[in-house]
Amino acid sequence: MQGTLYLVATPIGNLRDISYRALDTLRDVDVIACEDTRHSQKLLNHYRISNRTISFHEHNENERGEELLEMLKSGASIAVISDAGTPGINDPGYRLVRIASEIGISVVPIPGPSAVIAALIASGLPTESFFFGGFLPSKKGDRIKRLTEVKDIPATLVFFETPHRISRAIADCIEVLGDRNAVIARELTKIHETFTRGRLSELPFLTNAKGEMVLLIERASNQTAAAASIDDVDTLIEELKKAGFDEKAAIKKAAKQLGIPKSEVYRRTKVKK
Ligand code: SAM
Repeated sequence: MQGTLYLVATPIGNLRDISYRALDTLRDVDVIACEDTRHSQKLLNHYRISNRTISFHEHNENERGEELLEMLKSGASIAVISDAGTPGINDPGYRLVRIASEIGISVVPIPGPSAVIAALIASGLPTESFFFGGFLPSKKGDRIKRLTEVKDIPATLVFFETPHRISRAIADCIEVLGDRNAVIARELTKIHETFTRGRLSELPFLTNAKGEMVLLIERASNQTAAAASIDDVDTLIEELKKAGFDEKAAIKKAAKQLGIPKSEVYRRTKVKK
């Protein structure tokens, strides 16, 4: 009998953000493969979990991955956890999962926190479609190239960022993507959790920001909508009415033209009144 590989999501700050199922799994498996055993020990101690731990990180992913596969083949069950959040999301996991699934080992996700989803749902940017790009490259040339590749994706763009690179990344975003609406979500689930919203050009004051952060940027096609001020919407409605549309039809047409919902056009015209 082969063992099972569990991918267990752990908190991204607040230790209480862990599921019963995650705790049960961490207690029941034979081995917990941790990105950093000392870091994860705090979580395990907090929940009085005394299972065996083993390190599994980007620098030993290949050889340790082989060992883990052998253990799985001989029947051991293994939980993979990262320092924070969901394993495999910019954390070790993917290659092991790929090989395990190819050789018929069952892979079971135990879902839970991820900075990507926590940041997105509270950003106020559209959530129905998003593109997660991991960390932007650290070198300017590579970053510009990457941003150019994703520029026209019709989805909210989500990137991980670091405090020492955020202002340079924002400057490049403005250069390549234009001055879009954006959000920086910092220290999610922690005491100093902060959301900074505005145009990209309004965000660089965060040069001295500390802590972990996610950068979210509104998609290209929404910019017309975002840029359309209340006056723009009003002028357009007036023009449409002059052209013979009644109020309802004018709102419908303006919504289509601006690429925003009718309710939003209605809200903006109402605010004006
Ligand atoms: N696997 C993790 C997840 O699912 O959230 C992400 C790991 S990645 C190596 C670490 C990056 O995630 C950080 O540099 C930061 O951009 C983001 N991050 C993690 N925790 C965060 C938090 N509490 N608040 C904001 N961003 C966070």
